[in-house]
Amino acid sequence: MTTFKALGLQQSLLDAVNDLGFETPSEVQEKAIPILLEAETDLVALAQTGTGKTAAFGFPLIQKIDRESRTTQGLILSPTRELCLQITNELQLYSKYEKHINVVAIYGGASITEQARQIKRGAQIVVATPGRMKDMIGRGLVDISKIDYCILDEADEMLNMGFFEDIKDILSNTPNEKSTWLFSATMPKEVSIIAKKFMHSPKEITVGAKNSGATTVQHEYYTVGGRDRSPALKRLADTNPDIFSVVFCRTKRDTQKVAEKLIEDGYNAGALHGDLSQNQRDLVMSAFRKKQIQMLVATDVAARGIDVDDITHVINYQLPDEIETYTHRSGRTGRAGKSGISMVIITRSEQRKIKSIEKIIKQEFVAKSLPTGMEICEIQLYHLANKIKDTKINPEVDSFLPAINDVLQGLDRDELIKKIVSVEFTRFYNYYNKTKDLNSIGASNDHEGGSYDSSASGAVRYFINVGEKDGYDWMSLKDFIRDTAGLGKEDIFKVDVKDSFSFFNSESGVSDQILATFKDLKIDGRFVNVEVSKNPGGAGGRKRGGPGGPKSRGKRKEKNKDFDRPRSRKRDRGNSSAPNSGKRRSKKRKGDFF
Ligand code: AMP
Repeated sequence: MTTFKALGLQQSLLDAVNDLGFETPSEVQEKAIPILLEAETDLVALAQTGTGKTAAFGFPLIQKIDRESRTTQGLILSPTRELCLQITNELQLYSKYEKHINVVAIYGGASITEQARQIKRGAQIVVATPGRMKDMIGRGLVDISKIDYCILDEADEMLNMGFFEDIKDILSNTPNEKSTWLFSATMPKEVSIIAKKFMHSPKEITVGAKNSGATTVQHEYYTVGGRDRSPALKRLADTNPDIFSVVFCRTKRDTQKVAEKLIEDGYNAGALHGDLSQNQRDLVMSAFRKKQIQMLVATDVAARGIDVDDITHVINYQLPDEIETYTHRSGRTGRAGKSGISMVIITRSEQRKIKSIEKIIKQEFVAKSLPTGMEICEIQLYHLANKIKDTKINPEVDSFLPAINDVLQGLDRDELIKKIVSVEFTRFYNYYNKTKDLNSIGASNDHEGGSYDSSASGAVRYFINVGEKDGYDWMSLKDFIRDTAGLGKEDIFKVDVKDSFSFFNSESGVSDQILATFKDLKIDGRFVNVEVSKNPGGAGGRKRGGPGGPKSRGKRKEKNKDFDRPRSRKRDRGNSSAPNSGKRRSKKRKGDFF
């Protein structure tokens, strides 16, 4: 296994690596660091966000800076203020044992005078957004005529945002003999133009497949009527009670409208777009990071630079105008070694766009059907039962118990359980009871097929009482079921992992084998039970201990058990007819990177 030391990093950086808890270099670091340390060269690196690319250019840059000189030697251009601050922050952490290195961030929306003052004090490394950089060059507030290194980070995003001319201008103010390191997730024409015009025989490295999205992301699409996008979005949220997502819209107006509608209907949602002030945007982002917002509705431009690793779903409320932008959107999930799902709501006429995107991402979409109202009720019921099971008892309740007992006397256990779950369930039931099937008739299902309706396809849908909390994602759960039951590669499909339970499908031919394997199966002292998911009907059809709740005898060691689990802010649901989705538990991001 390669170590950071073997890559050629000096001791002060190795000490910082140690403090940061990075154990091994990521792929992009392993490939880029030795090249950049060894010689003065230009470099084109194709790498997604979340692959550790900041350190891939940050470590060599810091190592190469002349500490004795206060002249600006390194310029990093990045698309957004958020990213600019993140890079600056990371570089400051990397150089914490290098007392004489000064990194300054310059970006729009903050005092230009203060930034100029910081530069004047001597900044060997400047991290900038193109707009503010150009402004400061124009006013003579920064001198980049003697830089040795220029880094273009997320070059494709900068160009997508319309910074082509600004970048050309900025680069023409830099010396010819510098080294340029360009990092980009994709290689559209404009990036190639910049590379050709401003770089000299760059070395090339690629992390993962060229122009492809992260492979940890499953891509799904749902075909609905043009007017059903909004209820379809709600169904996607209700099917995933622990969702933590970015919902992409095409325009600022739609973004605002979709967010308002979600909030009105009781979801923890927020809007992020260019018509908001910087302060408003900061507030929304801070709430999102704290997971007080579960659904962040955003435009492409506003969402750039969002560096949140735990996003479970990206929802394309509408497809982007430029299909290349899809890669940036879906890249917001499946980061830092986690898996994620990118969902697209389309109308029938947009189905051909899916084919074009498949070519770009080099991955197939799964055509899925939106669950029926009753299926959502079933999912919500399991979710609720699990939530009750996992709720820590508040000792303060004890003193009220005699009085509560008085009120509830005469109710037996079953009745009590039915009443408790009905509090939430009835809300969903009332809303979904009379709703129609939203799936557009004639929608093509020519991929794996995604219907939740097991009876229609001849497949069997199952419930299993393990989920994300047990450390599974859809890929690892699929492997687990397949290996445990001794099945083939294609036998298990449509795996939907929820927080503490999941659903999956198999062809009916292997159903007995699956049920027999999981009958009384105990793993780590816990019964893992699989049952055929009966639908519709929710509570009535199941023969488990509680109404709809999986019977859990024993307990498996829970991952992340000790971590803080902040609760989402409760919103006043007013007279809203639509149910609110559940709340997500916070997952600590650590350890299993890449
Ligand atoms: P980036 O792609 O630079 O945005 O990095 C994504 C995240 O991975 C950041 O939070 C880094 O701190 C973290 N990271 C970078 N390199 C490593 C590494 N070798 N091991 C663990 N975490 C890392």
